[in-house]
Amino acid sequence: MPLIRPLSQSLINKIAAGEVIERPASVVKELMENAVDAGAGRIDVTIRAGGGELVRVVDDGCGIPAEQLPLAVASHATSKLAEADDLFRVTTLGFRGEALASIAEISRLVLRSRTPDSPSGAELEVVGGKPGEVAPCGSPPGTSIEVQNLFFNTPVRRKFLRTTQTEFGHISEAFARIALACPEKHFTLRHNDRSVFELPACDDWRDRIGRLFGRELAEQLIWVESGDGDVRLSGYVANPAQSRGNNRMQYLLLNGRHIRDRSLQHALSEAYRGLLMTGRYPIAFLRFEMPPEMVDVNVHPTKLEVRFQDGGRLYGQLLAAIRQRFLTTDLTAQVRTADDTPESSHDPAQTAAMRQELVDWAKGQVAGWGRNGAAGSSPPSFDEASPCPQPHDPLQLNRIDRPGEAPGQSSGNGGQPSGHRDGGAIPQVPNGLPGRSSSALQVHNRYLVAETDDGVTIIDQHALHERILYEALRRRVLDGAIESQSLLVPEPVDLGPSEAATVLENCELLARLGVVVEPFGGDTVLISGYPAMLANFRPADVLQELLSRLIEGGKQPDGRDILDALLHTIACKAAVKAGDRLAPEEISALLEQRHLVDDAHHCPHGRPTALVFTREELDRQFRRV
Ligand code: ADP
Ligand code: MG
Repeated sequence: MPLIRPLSQSLINKIAAGEVIERPASVVKELMENAVDAGAGRIDVTIRAGGGELVRVVDDGCGIPAEQLPLAVASHATSKLAEADDLFRVTTLGFRGEALASIAEISRLVLRSRTPDSPSGAELEVVGGKPGEVAPCGSPPGTSIEVQNLFFNTPVRRKFLRTTQTEFGHISEAFARIALACPEKHFTLRHNDRSVFELPACDDWRDRIGRLFGRELAEQLIWVESGDGDVRLSGYVANPAQSRGNNRMQYLLLNGRHIRDRSLQHALSEAYRGLLMTGRYPIAFLRFEMPPEMVDVNVHPTKLEVRFQDGGRLYGQLLAAIRQRFLTTDLTAQVRTADDTPESSHDPAQTAAMRQELVDWAKGQVAGWGRNGAAGSSPPSFDEASPCPQPHDPLQLNRIDRPGEAPGQSSGNGGQPSGHRDGGAIPQVPNGLPGRSSSALQVHNRYLVAETDDGVTIIDQHALHERILYEALRRRVLDGAIESQSLLVPEPVDLGPSEAATVLENCELLARLGVVVEPFGGDTVLISGYPAMLANFRPADVLQELLSRLIEGGKQPDGRDILDALLHTIACKAAVKAGDRLAPEEISALLEQRHLVDDAHHCPHGRPTALVFTREELDRQFRRV
């Protein structure tokens, strides 16, 4: 007969740790949340070796009295809940009283703390759940917690740790979520003695977003807010020009806590319906404030998911707020000047420089227009009579000699030599589509400048070409019409064990992209077929790149995302690069193809492919109005 026995406290703690502490990033999250709950104004996070070696979080919060240190690391001990009812109106990030006990069970934890009114600090060390004695120590007011050798006594967990880089990636994400929620606090993050984030306290949330996620993104965000009784929603969403291939850039903060919520994510997608391509997700930074009793935060071990009393109302409120805002917003990516956005936190020097560039460029443009005949004339090499077998095939723009192609095909470019690039065939020039946009200046071998009906457009050649290829590839993949070229000598590629497994698990998906791989014994795979458009790149390199996309996207349950990521990778590789000098007819071809894509304004990474300067804006810059 099996005996029923109570579990030891140590085992209980290990089981709890299993739920709460999945990886070093979980430690960072719990310690930072404690610091926030302690009312800290400054929180410094130090990491060594992806957190496996050390996680240290230092705060200047309320501290813990010396005699309470053993309780802080005991399980089910908390200062944040007193009675059962408190559980239904939680106003702190923590409340279960199990994080420190769990962490201490599976690491060496050193806790030092001092309350503001005590003359000195005290410290307590716990190794594998065994606490030492509380001893006095020097310490500034506040708390410092050091966690070393995480998982040293739980080998299975330790085995599941990924590379330092991956673990640190998770740590940065955990750090960002908390730093995002508390712009009024100063945060720093260091990894292996390198400063990764230095975030001074700020009043403007956009500033914090910009430091965490990039200023370019932050500057184009659109403010949304709405108040419906005691539920308030406020924050930023991105211009549809900026989107992502997954929903990880949707930050939802509920009463200062980062949450995931399918229904709210759905409301976001719904608000952007028709503005984003399929497979693209909106970017959002949104805060929801509501009385704590309207939400149950005690439904998920790491409190990532919550239960709303009235989820439907929240859904409607979010959807309406964004739709309303979009109705009154010009969503085309325009170059803004400081005058347009007085409330934004532009760097004034940058704005001035941009303005000067614009003025300089426009002066040059005006001087050149007479010569270039902006209205409809084509470059001299644009041979309208030349045969053009597939005039509108966007894939023809790739700059690769395709072995086995009919010789006549290369005459479609009007016989221009292609010597200025290695091995690049000149793309097909579609004829019969004259128009202003088929002629353009090319500046710095990087940007194409074209006149439009109501202004001028500056196009990023790489981004546009990538977009065109991506669209065309996607269409072909969906039609099952991608061309794969059998390799005369199949290429063996040595991979790591899990890499080989990933490749073979996904060989059907890869085949749809024209990359044919087979097992070759051990951790070696054989590439036997290869997409014609990538003939210029080593199959092994391309496979490695696709593989890293597969690994990154491995956790994504939605198969389409990963296909999307692979398409991006191929399009990016095959596209012309910034710095490639294009022949005039290549420029024309690019500009013509621009009409063939669904969304010519953005490359698949969501960067704009084109900036539009309206004539009005130019007139204003030149003080004509
Ligand atoms: P919880 O946060 O759920 O209460 P923890 O195990 O994370 O549980 O922390 C236990 C207790 O230790 C907290 O309730 C709090 O009183 C104290 N504590 C932990 N970290 C800090 C800190 N950085 N500053 C002040 N007190 C802290
Ligand atoms: Mg806690």
